[in-house]
Amino acid sequence: MTIRMPVPVVKHDMLIGGRWTQAESGDIFESFDPYTGEPWAEVPRAGTADVDAAVEAASDAFRGEWRRMTATARGHLLRRFADRLAAAAETLAVLETRDNGKLINEMRMQLNYMPQWFHYFGGLADKIEGRVIPIDKPGVFNFTREEPLGVVVAITPWNSPLMLAAWKLAPALAAGNTIVWKPSEFSSVSALAFGKLFEEAGFPPGVVNIVTGFGHEIGDRLVRHPKVAKIAFTGGDATGQRVYQAAASELKKVTLELGGKSANIVFADARMESAIPGLVSGIFAASGQTCIAGSRALVQRSVLDEVVEKLVAFAKTARIGDPLDPETQVGPITTLPQRQKVLDYIDIAKGEGAECLLGGKVPEDPALAPGWFVEPTIFGGVASSMRIAQEEVFGPVLSVIPFEDEDEAVAIANDSIYGLASGLWTQDLGRALRMPDRLQTGSVWVNMYRATSYLSPFGGYKRSGIGRENGMSAIREYLQEKSVWIDTMNSVPSPFVQR
Ligand code: NAD
Repeated sequence: MTIRMPVPVVKHDMLIGGRWTQAESGDIFESFDPYTGEPWAEVPRAGTADVDAAVEAASDAFRGEWRRMTATARGHLLRRFADRLAAAAETLAVLETRDNGKLINEMRMQLNYMPQWFHYFGGLADKIEGRVIPIDKPGVFNFTREEPLGVVVAITPWNSPLMLAAWKLAPALAAGNTIVWKPSEFSSVSALAFGKLFEEAGFPPGVVNIVTGFGHEIGDRLVRHPKVAKIAFTGGDATGQRVYQAAASELKKVTLELGGKSANIVFADARMESAIPGLVSGIFAASGQTCIAGSRALVQRSVLDEVVEKLVAFAKTARIGDPLDPETQVGPITTLPQRQKVLDYIDIAKGEGAECLLGGKVPEDPALAPGWFVEPTIFGGVASSMRIAQEEVFGPVLSVIPFEDEDEAVAIANDSIYGLASGLWTQDLGRALRMPDRLQTGSVWVNMYRATSYLSPFGGYKRSGIGRENGMSAIREYLQEKSVWIDTMNSVPSPFVQR
């Protein structure tokens, strides 16, 4: 176990129009370390005046130097940012772990990988091309331009604060937009350090603005502001619905990356030495606080007892502790209300008649008492209709649901309002090819779980979202196509007939 040295509480500024500033009101809020349960940072509590200032700055920047910059120069800036990010990866990983309690190993992996988003989309910046249309009208030249949308508002959750922002900022900036980013009120500190890197890389002031504050106080203004063209949101589906409704009332474009209740399906022919760690990594890594958590383990009935026994034995060995300690395998829950929500769901599952096979409570170790922990928890005897099998817990709680055959596995897996991801463990090649066609999810992993890349599209079916992040598809989310018509014949058309 590591011994934590106390750190002084630091007061941070947010970034508006190239200025590091406090909120106009002077209000702040505290950010807590989920391992110690103590405040460790003070962050500006932005109000609507700050939102307006940030949107104005982004709007001015969109019409200024940034708009006149060549796409190649824009790409170069993004790649310079990537290099700054690579150099700052360790510092940022530690900030993230302190702020959201996720494992340092996981945050290191994310931060060391993240520069690739800025290299990839920086590379794409000057490969955005229009088309010449072989138009059917004589004497007319028609071509298309791909243009940025304008000011993009990025709203992100606390579970992977910088990674989920990078998924938005890299394509949006490559496409030539400007940004107002509101990180989660539970994890703003790393965002502000990230903001400094844009300055160091040489982005013009106002291209990236960061306002820190509470979603219920400034979210609506951000979404509805008349100078905002698009909202790129990641968070819970209830918040996503509110954002979508507000955006719809102003006819704004949206990308929504929302929740999940992903099925991780184990067939009797699976290689159990991979499938068991696969089930565990699907749910207990990140203490279940990932949108793609494999929170439903669907297990073929003929191997149910074997899988449950091995699963419980394996999960029991997970080391709970300080997330800054590289030996730790399960860290705390990021927020106190979220820990309560997880404990409430455990009670709901017990009330529904599910059998608690592991965990189900706060750890008894007194060393962990100040932190916001929940033990890795496994429920057996779960039916697909139970709330514990239907609702997103966003914590280290796994429901094991048996199935007889492929058809039943598909029916249970698809029996969800969500459709973010699914996992499949089998050695049958035909099944590995057949099942992805039948599963209603935006990602399917076969004999692996929880992999994402800057190269491959990510997004949800059903209530898990709208639009795609990552890969070639992502940049299209931040562009609009313009059709340009030119008369090449100096013709004099009849004013009363459509051309
Ligand atoms: P949340 O929905 O509570 O908050 C997300 C963000 O929305 C925060 O920045 C919050 O301040 C802001 N917000 C809150 N109310 C708002 C409003 N009225 N208008 C505008 N913004 C508002 O989510 P969370 O608890 O921070 O994160 C957990 C959720 O995020 C889970 O449901 C998880 O599945 C989801 N998530 C999805 C993905 C994905 O890519 N699909 C990835 C990670 C997390």
